[in-house]
Amino acid sequence: MLQQILKDYWGYDDFLPLQQEAMQCVLDDHDSLVVMPTGGGKSLCYQAPALCRDGLVVVVSPLIALMKDQVDALRACGIPAAAVNSTLAVGKRRAVAQEIQRGRLRLMYMSPERLLAARTLKFLQSQRVGFFAVDEAHCISAWGHDFRPEYRDLSRLRDYFPGVAIHAYTATATEQVRSDISSQLGLKDPIKLVGDFHRPNLQYHVRRRERGLNQICSVLDHFRGQSGIIYCITRAEVEKTCGLLCKMGYSALPYHAGLADEDRTHHQEAFLTEQTETIVATIAFGMGIDKSNVRYVIHAGMPKSLENYQQESGRAGRDGVEAECWLFHSSRDLMSWKRIIDECRGDARKAAETSLECMAAYCASVVCRHASLVGHFGQTWNRARCNACDVCLGKLEVVDHALETGQAILSAVARVHEKFGADYVSMVLAGSRDKRILTNGHDRITPWGTLSDYRRQDVRQWIEQLVNQDFLCKDPEYHV
Ligand code: ADP
Repeated sequence: MLQQILKDYWGYDDFLPLQQEAMQCVLDDHDSLVVMPTGGGKSLCYQAPALCRDGLVVVVSPLIALMKDQVDALRACGIPAAAVNSTLAVGKRRAVAQEIQRGRLRLMYMSPERLLAARTLKFLQSQRVGFFAVDEAHCISAWGHDFRPEYRDLSRLRDYFPGVAIHAYTATATEQVRSDISSQLGLKDPIKLVGDFHRPNLQYHVRRRERGLNQICSVLDHFRGQSGIIYCITRAEVEKTCGLLCKMGYSALPYHAGLADEDRTHHQEAFLTEQTETIVATIAFGMGIDKSNVRYVIHAGMPKSLENYQQESGRAGRDGVEAECWLFHSSRDLMSWKRIIDECRGDARKAAETSLECMAAYCASVVCRHASLVGHFGQTWNRARCNACDVCLGKLEVVDHALETGQAILSAVARVHEKFGADYVSMVLAGSRDKRILTNGHDRITPWGTLSDYRRQDVRQWIEQLVNQDFLCKDPEYHV
């Protein structure tokens, strides 16, 4: 029956991996937590079963734009769906309520705030709710990369609707986030379905950023006439990069939260309909964008977490055809993020710091990128080489005298008795006369200044590489 629905309403012949299992959980009223990479087809997991069972399906979604896209797509397939949010006039809201009372509406999209408003809860309790689908469920976890405090209140849902199943969906969840989602939502013995995060058609490259736009331009030149996304950290960088690219004759448009709504919509449309080749954007761009033929995603700065990176770079090659993901980073990015994180408090701050460290380690790493990403999302990697990343393709620049350099670093760590952090050790190796170093007498140990011919950031990065390859080990408690 599900397969017929897939064919009749969406025109698809078959399920994508795990879709059928996820849909079965919905039909069985068994709570579930579904983790699938972006483009894995999460929406259908609750939309298709909504059509072959009773009751209204309430979908919790974080963004109005996201709700609108989903509702438009459903209606285009002939499925009665609506989004109830602040942009809807009171009269229209009433009309939706009537549709629900008449049992005509199949799916209703709402933000968590609206769902948990006393009036909505009272109304829904008097109706027949089939199940709840919590989209972008990682927003509930302070350990996730996109924590939204209003999602936290969803923990009350279970008390109001004790007999109604809850299904959570996310693209980005490490083990910690997964268990947080499950406990926050009070999922009952949930079936956990975790999709495959390996994206074999994506080729990953990581490079230290050079001045100017040459690196970005060489990717754009390679993909002339094809679609791609460039992510920048700030709105100002988006404007600057986009402006320069346009001046050089590239077809690009900016996208960030500082633009007027109509400009944003227009730029997005232009990208989707291929009137512009490249969209230069902050992370405001992408959630819910369904464009399959994105051939490249460039990060002009380091993202704040591997979750972000996986999701953003994952927008490339959704059609399964080869695509490239380029990440250009500099130590300045780390500083920028640290300043932003400084404003967070408590668990959210700790989580942000840990995420940032993982991201920086990935940039410095000399381990297969596919293996690192898949490993980060809790899956095992049992291939020798991926042949689709800078490391496995042998594209990394190799240090001259790597063995001696590595030995110098290990020796410095030993001579400061393993009691100092990587920044400090790199300063010792670079021959710094910092006050702390002089006070500790570390200007008199043999490794002092042995790597003074190199830039300190490089030495700092080599330390990360040694950690990455298990030659060194970081103590997370003391940061030594
Ligand atoms: P996600 O939310 O996991 O990022 P979506 O639900 O947006 O993914 O689906 C990604 C794309 O895959 C959409 O274009 C969707 O229509 C398509 N899709 C979903 N299920 C199937 C299927 N069974 N067969 C073919 N395409 C599918």
